[in-house]
Amino acid sequence: MAELIDGKKISTEIKDEVKAKVAALKEEGVEITLAVIQVGADPASSVYVRNKKNACAYTGINSLSYELPEETTEEELLALIDKLNADEKVNGILVQLPVPKHINEDSIIKRISPDKDVDGFHPESVGRLSIGERGFVSCTPAGVIQLLKRSDVKIEGAECVVIGRSNIVGKPMAMLLIRENGTVTVCHSRTKDLREVTKRADILVVAIGKPKMIDASYIKEGATVIDVGIHRNEDNKLCGDVDFESASAVAGKITPVPGGVGPMTIAMLMNNCLEAGLMQNGR
Ligand code: NDP
Repeated sequence: MAELIDGKKISTEIKDEVKAKVAALKEEGVEITLAVIQVGADPASSVYVRNKKNACAYTGINSLSYELPEETTEEELLALIDKLNADEKVNGILVQLPVPKHINEDSIIKRISPDKDVDGFHPESVGRLSIGERGFVSCTPAGVIQLLKRSDVKIEGAECVVIGRSNIVGKPMAMLLIRENGTVTVCHSRTKDLREVTKRADILVVAIGKPKMIDASYIKEGATVIDVGIHRNEDNKLCGDVDFESASAVAGKITPVPGGVGPMTIAMLMNNCLEAGLMQNGR
């Protein structure tokens, strides 16, 4: 039976580290502030926004909340971002995605100053990651790296397979694993024989968006399996892209859903806010 990788515990460790650093900065008169913008009242987005604000309160980061009506125009949202970009008291800006359909997501992502891009979605942040420069990294894949490191999973030299090539998970995940000296293969919907590839993996990161698709037959004995997926099943219970019961009989280490990657995303957002404060204060 696979060993559980405890994302709840590891995310609390990270938030506590951020909290200590934020408190030390406060002693020197430096405060850190995150502006969170939500357009519309999508219930799932409201939960994410609330969790982010709670994490700010926990770590001592100030949070400014902008809850805009569904009918907000793209121009109005861009104007608010411009205002926050210019505000020296604001270190990080986050627009909760998805935004309503009449607003172009790309324009919003690109308008946030790269210096305040705590989600790590701006093309400049993505470029910095790919050439190995200091900058903001997308929170979910950054969280996966911390889960691996803090569970003593060796990335260097390991065969790493990522299923999924999205801009916010799959691609940055691959870049980060390369940075950690893993040998990386990325699979997607056009991959010919998925099982044949995933069975080679020492570390398998699954970000497909298909409930319980990956069972034991895709996994090498003893491999580490990281499940990024998050879904609600017929009984309204959370599950991942991995069939946990089947996979945990073969894997060496595995993340559960809930309690695996999910809590890490917010912990890494707090870390990015800290990083924003440090960079903007020349440290
Ligand atoms: P996307 O839908 O953007 O990407 C899914 C990827 O999986 C695509 O690259 C797609 O390939 C690939 N894919 C789809 N079907 C198959 C298949 N049958 N075989 C191989 N590859 C396939 O999803 P995201 O990256 O945004 O998210 C992935 C999962 O992670 C979702 O369940 C999401 O809810 C979850 N998530 C969780 C977060 C957390 O905090 N825990 C944060 C972000 C996401 P192609 O490119 O060819 O279409």
